[in-house]
Amino acid sequence: VVRTLAPRLTGRTIVHATFSSRHIVRERAAVLAARLSGRRVLAVRRRAKFVLLELDGGTLAIHLGMTGKLRFDCPASKHGYAVFELNDGVLLFDDPRQFGKIEWEPPRIAALGPEPLEIGPDEFAARLKQRRGRLKPLLLNQAFLGGLGNIYVDEALHRAGIHPLARAASLSAPRAARLLGAIREILTAAIALGGSTISDYVDAAGRRGGFQLLHRVYGRAGEPCLNCGAAIRKILVSQRGTHFCPRCQKR
Ligand SMILES: [Zn+2]
Repeated sequence: VVRTLAPRLTGRTIVHATFSSRHIVRERAAVLAARLSGRRVLAVRRRAKFVLLELDGGTLAIHLGMTGKLRFDCPASKHGYAVFELNDGVLLFDDPRQFGKIEWEPPRIAALGPEPLEIGPDEFAARLKQRRGRLKPLLLNQAFLGGLGNIYVDEALHRAGIHPLARAASLSAPRAARLLGAIREILTAAIALGGSTISDYVDAAGRRGGFQLLHRVYGRAGEPCLNCGAAIRKILVSQRGTHFCPRCQKR
């Protein structure tokens, strides 16, 4: 999303912003709108799952939630709960389920763990050693590692041959390195393909993702594992649907 948004947004000025969902904007809409008015977009970047608009004089953080979409110069829509009128063009935040968030410099950005594409294998293994608990909830914990969501955790664990309920602290250094390698491979491939479109996700240019076609476990419960043929299982881990191969993935 950032890759498609940055060239369209950088250098433009927010002339006027309107917010119409109290789920998406928790502070008073008029206060946030006044704060943004007249500010220029210096850069658009990503940190973990947040889209950050670096403005002259502060940062606006946008979390897409489950169904949030940032669209540039597209017609007004029923679920367009944030409208940024720019000096040239309009940015719309469309979010049918309203799980997205738009926040001015939220403290939770500073509390995010390292980026999976940046952390080294030694540091990753050391961080795992310090933690109690199972692997999957830890990988979803944004303070442990920033940016992984449910789909990519399931896919990475399958590719690394590690069970989602394995104990984080008991992972050997080679298995930890294999897991980090799998996470990187998955994220790099998914970003190159524009993400995973499960329902109606599109990037800022309106394109659907293509990585869902490469999912090996997510959404494939009962279907044969592409490595070994065993039926993919689905269980609940921390309230999240978790897909794995009972034969390939070891604790
Ligand atoms: Zn298998």
